[in-house]
Amino acid sequence: METSVMPATKVHNFSAGPSILPQEVLQKAALACTNFNNLNLSLLEVSHRSKDVVEMTDHAVSLVKDLLNLPEDYDVVFLQGGASMQFLMVPYNLLRTDGTAAYVNTGTWASKAVKEARGLGNTEVIASSEMQGFNHIPKGYTIPADADYLHITSNNTIYGTQYQGFPECEIPFVADMSSDIFSRRFDASKFSLIYAGAQKNMGPAGVTLAIIKKGILGKTGRYIPTMLNYQTHIDKDSMFNTPPVFAIYVSMLTLEWLKSNGGIDWIEARNKQKAEMFYGELDSNEMFEGIAAIEDRSRMNATFLLKNKNLEEDFNKMLKEANISGLKGHRSVGGFRASMYNALPPESVQVLVDVMKEFGKKFG
Ligand SMILES: *Cc1c(COP(=O)(O)O)cnc(C)c1O
Repeated sequence: METSVMPATKVHNFSAGPSILPQEVLQKAALACTNFNNLNLSLLEVSHRSKDVVEMTDHAVSLVKDLLNLPEDYDVVFLQGGASMQFLMVPYNLLRTDGTAAYVNTGTWASKAVKEARGLGNTEVIASSEMQGFNHIPKGYTIPADADYLHITSNNTIYGTQYQGFPECEIPFVADMSSDIFSRRFDASKFSLIYAGAQKNMGPAGVTLAIIKKGILGKTGRYIPTMLNYQTHIDKDSMFNTPPVFAIYVSMLTLEWLKSNGGIDWIEARNKQKAEMFYGELDSNEMFEGIAAIEDRSRMNATFLLKNKNLEEDFNKMLKEANISGLKGHRSVGGFRASMYNALPPESVQVLVDVMKEFGKKFG
């Protein structure tokens, strides 16, 4: 039987997460499953403390630092438990027992982060778009100067909104960047802590990136369980316990792919081009309407509705015929969502735009 590691048909993968990875990354990852670094051993069956794995992890860390242009005074660690575990780790490590945490609530993930902080201490939601169905990013709020930190969600994966710029923040600034990290240039030095589950824009599920400014830890006055303490993982270079070696490896390959193609400047221009292609069609096509406020639209996740819901089956059929996958909206929003993460090529967006045009011609 003829077998190939790569699929025979090209599918345009708009999945919201886990999501598309570059083909060349998948090929290299497949090879590492049988023969990692020419060791004649699989990456899946070697010690995380072996020289090759330690070097690979260090390389992943240096790629993160390099691509994000991180100043010297930041630590980079790879953690487990997903971004959802960060919802808990952030307050555990930054919220003083008698302090207050400030949050901006812009969607489902932000709300979950608020919930975990509330479980630990005094937590204030200083701005929220919940009453408007999370269709925009709140602006013009005052950040309490005495709060221990401000937490935001830079891109709202489910609702399709994204901060176009970040507020000036004088207190420790924390961001969940799970769904737009490495997608555009931003000034990392403005943040005290950034975290991101890998599976949207950096790699596969199973690893979470955390970027922590030196000097912010150890001030809460509470006991922090060992595994939930950032310092544990910083002190052991992400190897306190067995790390998710394969997920780190695939993330490293993805970051290498990004760097070799031109880094953040290249991907930002490409992501902008894809978003302009998509939203251009959305705004000129009578059949559809966008969900998010135009000024806050996400370049990563575009949410939209069919004006005539009765045509949903017809649209889905055309998507399927064009080999477009993963366009179904999140169950809490409905409609459709086109996730256009870094690895999605502009050609895939063009195929989607062509289907939308064709749909308009046929049913408009
Ligand atoms: C997907 C997502 C999460 C949850 O990530 P898990 O790794 O599944 O815990 C959190 N925040 C944002 C912005 C996300 O997109």
